[in-house]
Amino acid sequence: MKAIFFRKHGDSSVLEYGDVQEPPLKSNAVLVRVKAVALNHLDIWVRIGWSGLKLPLPHVLGSDVAGIVERVGPEVTDLKSGDPVVINPGLSCGHCNRCLLGEDNLCKSYQILGEHTWGGYAEFVVVPRQNVLPKPSNLSFEQAACLPLTFLTAWTMLIRRAHLGAGETVLVHAAGSGVGSAAVQIAKLVGAQVIATACPFCIQMFEDGIPTVQPDDTKRMKTYDVAELLELTVIGRPSGGSPAADAMGIAEPAGDPA
Ligand SMILES: [Zn+2]
Repeated sequence: MKAIFFRKHGDSSVLEYGDVQEPPLKSNAVLVRVKAVALNHLDIWVRIGWSGLKLPLPHVLGSDVAGIVERVGPEVTDLKSGDPVVINPGLSCGHCNRCLLGEDNLCKSYQILGEHTWGGYAEFVVVPRQNVLPKPSNLSFEQAACLPLTFLTAWTMLIRRAHLGAGETVLVHAAGSGVGSAAVQIAKLVGAQVIATACPFCIQMFEDGIPTVQPDDTKRMKTYDVAELLELTVIGRPSGGSPAADAMGIAEPAGDPA
C-alpha cells in the first residue's frame, strides 16, 4: 500500500511517500481504507523523536483517522465492507480493571495509534474492532478525523475529571491548539463560561470569528498570575508552556484503582 513514512527521526524532510507492507489483519481487527487523517502535534513529536524512544522504523504516523471498512477479521461480525467509520486511537487490552472501568487510557498496555503502532498516513490502517466507531452521518470524513485525540483529551479533562457544569468558569490555556479549541467547545456546550489564553495569531483567529470556537473572553496575558486575578473553577492546560496548572497542583497523574 502507499503511505507516508519515515526511516529516521528529524524535521519534515525525513517524510517519504512510497510503498510499504500492508499491516496484517488479525481475527478481531478491521482493515480501514483511510479517507481522512488529521495532523496532531503528537505526529510532530514522534517524527522528531526524543531521548530513549525506540520506535521500530520505518514508522507510519497518524492518530486521527476516518475512513471506510475495507475488510474485517473472521471474528468481526457486526461490521461490513463499505461502512463509514471513525477510529478511536487509544489501543488498550480491553479486559483489565482500568479498561472495564472505562479508563482505558490508564491501561498498563495503553498505546496510541500512530505513536506506538502504524497510523493513518497510509491507504489502509488496521485497528482492533473495539476501536472502530460508526462515523456520524452529519460529519464529513475530514470533520470526523479531527475529533478523536483532541476531543477525547479535552472531554477527559473537563467532564470526567473536573465534572465541569453550567455556570462554572473555565480557563483554557493555549485555546488555539487542537485540545484547546476542543475544550472551548465542550465547555460552552455544557454552559460554562470560557476564558482563554492564546498566542496573538490565534487571538486574531478568534477575533475573525470561528463560531464554534469562541471563548467568552480572550486576553493577552504577559504573566500567568491568573489565580490571583480570577476565582477559577477549572484550569485546563492542553499544551506545554504554562506553569500555571503545575503550580496549582492540578496536573498530577491518577493513581491505580483501589
Ligand atoms: Zn486494559
